[in-house]
Amino acid sequence: MKTTPFWTEEAPRPADLPVSALPERVDVAVIGSGYTGLNAAIALRKAGVSVAVLEEHTIGWGASSRNGGMATTGLKEEMPNVFKRYGAAMGRAFWQWALASIDHVEQTVVEEEIACNFVRSGHVTLAFKPSHYERFAGEASWFHDNLAYDDLWVVDKEQVRGEIGSSAYFGGIVDRNSAALHPARYVFGLAQAAARRGALLVEQAGVTGLAHTASGFRVITKQGQMQAGDVLMATNGYTGNVVPALRRGIFPVGSYIIITEPLPPDLQHELSPRGRMFFDSKHFLNYFRLTPDGRMLFGGRHDLSTDLDLLESAQKMQARMVEVFPQLRGVPITHTWTGKLGLTFDLMPHVGRVDGVAYAYGYAGHGVSVASYLGKEAGEMLAGARTTSLFAQIKHARYPFTPYDKLYLPIVSQWFRYLDRVS
Ligand SMILES: Cc1cc2nc3c(=O)[nH]c(=O)nc-3n(C[C@H](O)[C@H](O)[C@H](O)COP(=O)(O)OP(=O)(O)OC[C@H]3O[C@@H](n4cnc5c(N)ncnc54)[C@H](O)[C@@H]3O)c2cc1C
Repeated sequence: MKTTPFWTEEAPRPADLPVSALPERVDVAVIGSGYTGLNAAIALRKAGVSVAVLEEHTIGWGASSRNGGMATTGLKEEMPNVFKRYGAAMGRAFWQWALASIDHVEQTVVEEEIACNFVRSGHVTLAFKPSHYERFAGEASWFHDNLAYDDLWVVDKEQVRGEIGSSAYFGGIVDRNSAALHPARYVFGLAQAAARRGALLVEQAGVTGLAHTASGFRVITKQGQMQAGDVLMATNGYTGNVVPALRRGIFPVGSYIIITEPLPPDLQHELSPRGRMFFDSKHFLNYFRLTPDGRMLFGGRHDLSTDLDLLESAQKMQARMVEVFPQLRGVPITHTWTGKLGLTFDLMPHVGRVDGVAYAYGYAGHGVSVASYLGKEAGEMLAGARTTSLFAQIKHARYPFTPYDKLYLPIVSQWFRYLDRVS
């Protein structure tokens, strides 16, 4: 079993990706080369702004080439909570924005000719307990009443068998607008598009410091220094202490994935007759899907840690997968890997400036579409082509104790486990 991501083995970083040496000066330095940074770079180039994308490892190395590839509707924070916190008008705007973020990915894939298996698969949220299923009818009517959204519907325990070959669930909610893609093909396609438009892609250029200058910033990297008029931090779950206030606004959470060998076509059809994306209704949720080449990808969290042993993780994850799909008992697991996503304290994405540095992060498990669209907006704001973003208009909480994650994350984990037991 390999302990590296399947996606980048199947679709490695293109050998002909034009990478550059560190330039002396650009208008904007984008730090981080995932969906946020690359969508920002494309938007900046569309506006004629010179840009260098600086990546500590290789282009697309972070969560953007490691994730489940599910572009699901909505945000991490549940819509009724968004309505309560920000009011109905803002709530409706956030919902529409989230739907538009999936359209943005679809349009980009078409416009930039990115062959990344994008498909409007729809998704199913699966009720892990009868009490969760009982809540689903109310949730569907809430979406109808408050958002006039009728593209989701409830399926009961019997009907859910038309969606998934498993008897583990008590029903589900289907949403037809969610999509699936191959994350590595998408991120490398974005990188090719950014380079074609003139963005400089610089690898092994970890940024270790930023200093304000009269004309912007001196950017200190492991390859040397450069000047930039402006800086966008696009580092999400990998955000370090380059701008300490940013690190205090986000905490990294480990997500773990296993993947099986390719399954026979009739078994694929039995497990996922409509090719949907799936996740269950727990706090420590499992997410799963078939890959374009017919493997079962099964992901989730064990606690919130980012450094668990990957073979141990695979064993636990395989046990969970077999609980859902006993048909997969004994099917070999070929890859086990992990990556970091970034959670903000209000579970909302954040975009703005701190200490003069622009940033966009905090997508939780919705970054495939949300990071893409917020990255584009951040790029447009830096280019002066847009004045603001919805997510710049909300309060962004920062906590003084984030660097001590290791102390309090186990407590948060225990709390989520408790909620999963009692809810
Ligand atoms: C296992 C897993 C499964 C997931 N599944 C899904 C899913 O199914 N659907 C979904 O919507 N979302 C999912 N997510 C979340 C999603 O992948 C992320 O939200 C999204 O990729 C974030 O993109 P990004 O560009 O902001 O950050 P990233 O793609 O993480 O990129 C950040 C980059 O910044 C670089 N960096 C950090 N610090 C520096 C520095 N100082 N100098 C230079 N470079 C630096 C890192 O090396 C990294 O490459 C998942 C995440 C993980 C880890």
